[in-house]
Amino acid sequence: MRFSKLRLTGFKSFVDPTDLLIQEGLTGVVGPNGCGKSNLLEALRWVMGENRPTAMRGGGMEDVIFAGASSRPARNFAEVALSLDNSERLAPAGFNDTDALEITRRITRDVGSAYRLNGKEVRARDVQMLFADAATGSHSPALVRQGQISELINAKPKSRRRVLEDAAGIGGLYQRRHEAELKLKNTEANLTRVDDVVEGLA
Ligand code: ATP
Repeated sequence: MRFSKLRLTGFKSFVDPTDLLIQEGLTGVVGPNGCGKSNLLEALRWVMGENRPTAMRGGGMEDVIFAGASSRPARNFAEVALSLDNSERLAPAGFNDTDALEITRRITRDVGSAYRLNGKEVRARDVQMLFADAATGSHSPALVRQGQISELINAKPKSRRRVLEDAAGIGGLYQRRHEAELKLKNTEANLTRVDDVVEGLA
């Protein structure tokens, strides 16, 4: 599974539809300060399910929408599409029956985010799991933002272990365990309620 294209529309400074073709090998992005290099990396993280505005250098999630410039009005939505080459069929189970995958995330003002996988609407969780099981995703240690190396050096051992676990592709298992624990708690609460009702009837 290889990233092959990133398309940005109305995302931060990329107001017009912009395609970044990701060829095999190393891709370098060069440009003057403030031209949008970090915005590209943020778009990649965002389409993979990042939900923390701080990770997008914003105060709220809608801050990723083009905010307008002196010559252009603000946009009402932002969209990022990530194309994946899956011709070697390396995508995790459940996503592995096509040669290409396209994940799209769109955020509309006052509406929120919607995700699509090959044109079909999916949940944020499905997209996050796809990338977590593929040992990548918005938390991937392969995406290194400015200042992250020094943060890692100063991090507590538990946080460092998390980085290794994400790299090993077991982040999805943690998420599934967390969801199973929540279900268990809900079921326990329901059982207590049933006991109360039964007691009331006795
Ligand atoms: P540097 O080399 O200094 O790190 P960079 O090339 O990584 O810079 P970015 O930080 O990606 O640049 O881009 C910053 C630019 O994006 C700024 O000009 C900022 O005004 C613009 N920008 C960020 N968010 C938005 C938004 N929502 N709408 C319009 N422009 C935005």
